[in-house]
Amino acid sequence: MSRNLYVEKDVCISCGLCVETVPEVFRFDDDNLAEVYDPAGAAEEKIQEAVDTCPVSCIHWG
Ligand code: SF4
Repeated sequence: MSRNLYVEKDVCISCGLCVETVPEVFRFDDDNLAEVYDPAGAAEEKIQEAVDTCPVSCIHWG
């Protein structure tokens, strides 16, 4: 079972780091803001890397 993972879009600055680091999980939406499209697309440690490196800390485990 995958944990709930989401991007706080009103905080995202569209830097692209998460999308580059884990493209299996994150993508840009039509407004160029990051979103989670497959929370089970990568290992949790890999996702955690994106959570930890987001410059505005707007990726959260629900
Ligand atoms: S790393 Fe954070 S600020 Fe950058 S695109 Fe992803 S969610 Fe947005």
